[in-house]
Amino acid sequence: MNQILVSRSSMPDFDEYCEEIKKMWDTHWLTNMGEEHRKFQSDLEEFLDCRHVVLYTNGHLALENIIAAMQFEPGSEVITTPFTFASTTHAIVRNGLVPIFCDINDRDYTIDVDKIESLITDRTVAILPVHVYGNICDVERIRAIADAHGLKVIYDAAHAFAVKYHGVSTANFGDASMFSFHATKVFNTIEGGAVCFSNDELVSTMNDMKNFGIRGPESVVFVGGNAKMSEFQAAMGICNLRHLEEEIAKRKKVVERYRDRLTGIKGLKLCAEQAGVESNYAYFPVVFDGYGMNRDEVFDRLAENGIGARKYFYPLTNSFECYRDYPTAGSGKTPVAAYLADRVLTLPLYADLALEDVDRICDIIIKIK
Ligand SMILES: *Cc1c(COP(=O)(O)O)cnc(C)c1O
Repeated sequence: MNQILVSRSSMPDFDEYCEEIKKMWDTHWLTNMGEEHRKFQSDLEEFLDCRHVVLYTNGHLALENIIAAMQFEPGSEVITTPFTFASTTHAIVRNGLVPIFCDINDRDYTIDVDKIESLITDRTVAILPVHVYGNICDVERIRAIADAHGLKVIYDAAHAFAVKYHGVSTANFGDASMFSFHATKVFNTIEGGAVCFSNDELVSTMNDMKNFGIRGPESVVFVGGNAKMSEFQAAMGICNLRHLEEEIAKRKKVVERYRDRLTGIKGLKLCAEQAGVESNYAYFPVVFDGYGMNRDEVFDRLAENGIGARKYFYPLTNSFECYRDYPTAGSGKTPVAAYLADRVLTLPLYADLALEDVDRICDIIIKIK
């Protein structure tokens, strides 16, 4: 029985990658913003249509550092959602800030904009929403609320690389957006990430943060850490970016097949496509509610057949043990997120997933009704 994992990393042809890294055997320049890094950064600024892209060794440190760059008072509050990966909440807390958990909406699972204002206090400094599954948050309403209250907006856009909203790249919403190029994402640099923004003043801060604040051989101006992207990661990015369009087109076919097979089945809820959004087909979430089996039973049945689905996102970050004592912790305070976390499963989805395998997955789900 062939095993199907929930994701499978996109990779360029072996020869193409070798060609890209070959020059390093002449230069011996392996990291510290070399030629590959420079090229990849400018490729991305063009692809994402964004004024500034600062590359990082992973998405998490990119997010941690862009929050730090805003220099909020310690103990300030950041409004965010718990229906996300650990990274989002951890990045807030590791900066000495307090996450205030807002519920999500049940249409696209992004932050419920109607619930943001009631959570704003005189300690609130920012909103940190997540473009979950590549679904775009209500960026206009969030901007309006932030402007009315003098708040910063930082998007966790880890899922939303290459997504466009009414023709505008997701890199251009809020004060900054973070992308992850982790191996499991639609676009990868093995490990990697970036922060995108338009404010010229942030460029040197973000560069200082990832390279010890070193400005020159004898000049250290900032207490920065180390989060640089290496030349090998950048080379992977250059190669993968060349094939991204084909990879997304293949993902689209997989998603269309899932929709064909699973639409209209009682007790199965699929996430509606968003109007005006050019999708990257990053994930395929299915909500099991009033189906013949519950989510965990479907998960187990798929696993018995060698198919890896993912309880994504379960548990919610506001029910993590490490956040037990936080003021808005507890999944009871975010009922929509809690409802979804107990019922959602993301099905296997990657560019090379065969349509026959999609059928096999759907057959298993449909037959266990
Ligand atoms: C992957 C991911 C991150 C972190 O990215 P890394 O590159 O793995 O550090 C952050 N937020 C979300 C929602 C993610 O899915």
